[in-house]
Amino acid sequence: MSEPLTVLKYRLARVRDLEAAANVLEWDQETYMPDGAAEARAHQVSTLRQLAHEYLTTDELAALVDALDGRLEGDDAALVRVTRRLIDRKRRLPAALVVELAGAVSRAKQAWKSARERNDFPVFAPHLKQLVDINIRIAEAVGYAGHRYDALLEEYEPGATAAEIATVFAALRERLVPIVKHLADAPQVDAGVLTRAFDTQAQWEFGMMVLRDIGFDFNRGRQDLSAHPFTTTFAITDVRLTTRVNERFLPSALFGSLHEGGHGLYEQGIDLAFDRSPLADGTSLGMHESQSCLWENLIGRSRPFWEHYYPKLKAAFPGPLADISLDAFYRAINAVAPTPIRVEADEVTYNLHIMLRFELEMAMLDGSLSVDDLPGAWNDRMEAYLGIRPPNDADGVLQDIHWSLGAFGYFPTYALGNLMSAQLYDAIRIAIPDLDDQIRAGRFEGLLGWLRTHIHGHGKAVDAGDLLERVTGSRLTSDNWIAYIEKKYVKR
Ligand code: ZN
Repeated sequence: MSEPLTVLKYRLARVRDLEAAANVLEWDQETYMPDGAAEARAHQVSTLRQLAHEYLTTDELAALVDALDGRLEGDDAALVRVTRRLIDRKRRLPAALVVELAGAVSRAKQAWKSARERNDFPVFAPHLKQLVDINIRIAEAVGYAGHRYDALLEEYEPGATAAEIATVFAALRERLVPIVKHLADAPQVDAGVLTRAFDTQAQWEFGMMVLRDIGFDFNRGRQDLSAHPFTTTFAITDVRLTTRVNERFLPSALFGSLHEGGHGLYEQGIDLAFDRSPLADGTSLGMHESQSCLWENLIGRSRPFWEHYYPKLKAAFPGPLADISLDAFYRAINAVAPTPIRVEADEVTYNLHIMLRFELEMAMLDGSLSVDDLPGAWNDRMEAYLGIRPPNDADGVLQDIHWSLGAFGYFPTYALGNLMSAQLYDAIRIAIPDLDDQIRAGRFEGLLGWLRTHIHGHGKAVDAGDLLERVTGSRLTSDNWIAYIEKKYVKR
């Protein structure tokens, strides 16, 4: 019995090493690589990824999984289950379809870029049609029990279904749309202070201090600069964060570091025994996002957090913050204003941007919405949910890169993360009754310890829905998040 398991772990560790090496190269590409190296780097990354794919999809590995399935317990059983899911999907996808998708994506990315620059949706439309068609064929090849969408969702949010998400989102929308309208009608908060000039070196140092304080281990990770912030992992003992610093927009680096720091803490907290295996990962993108949301919004935009940090922030930026009180700063970082742009959205309106995309993706995949009718459908929904119409398609249907990358089923994980973070936070408050006092004192080890024990440590060994239920006592719901929003924004 132990022998096939040893062989399986060895084979999976080699796949993992190849993927880690590709991650290093991709991280370098976004941080330090000279532009001229782009083509060479693309070859190197693609070779490593291809090798990892080949190693993972051999008949030998599939036979090992077959031999071990149902005969193990605990983490070993989880390893076999997660590996089966991984390889079944890859083995069911015809190689020709994978090649077709890669080609379509590389053309679509270019078309999307120029369509967006020229505000010309018809330039992108034929490519989007092709990507929708390929995704439908992928879903049919992979298979699904309920909605076709489930097959695509599975890659990002294992165990979740489109039906479950649609139900949760419908309940959320019903309560959220009136709140957004109420806030839009209320007197607007002046967030102008955030666009004053903030010394970039001081911003960097402040972010590093906060990361250290919340428990990010710089002996097993680092932070660097990149154009688009991200987190990547080479090993549980080597987690890389990136951030960007904008002199004229304080939240970029501040909340970007907290967001990526939340992802990084998750990765650093995974049981070391899982390293070099498919279990050394967040259990789903939604759960991963719950960790970044928790640190960025529930903690990082809370009053106790700033009761501790605002004096330090003021000391770091004596000029621009001289005339700004804690109250005024707190209101500025929590200003709510509907915008057509998802990445500029505040925490209240953000989920509506996601719901809109989820509904349109579903409709395109089940054939009830044609790509030609997409811009109109987008604008109508934007008006119904947020009360605004995008000024043009560049700031509407063309704003996100995701669809041009062929990624359908990815968007909902952002909102799932928001909802899960509030569910988790309510459970944490019960477990740590004086949490606010701890945060007010700049102490995060109680919170991080709870997350390590209940979430991070499990890696991918427990599915997100099961983990959530185990820890909070309920499946995914919007109730906790809505209660959080009402308490913070409506009843204040
Ligand atoms: Zn994130």
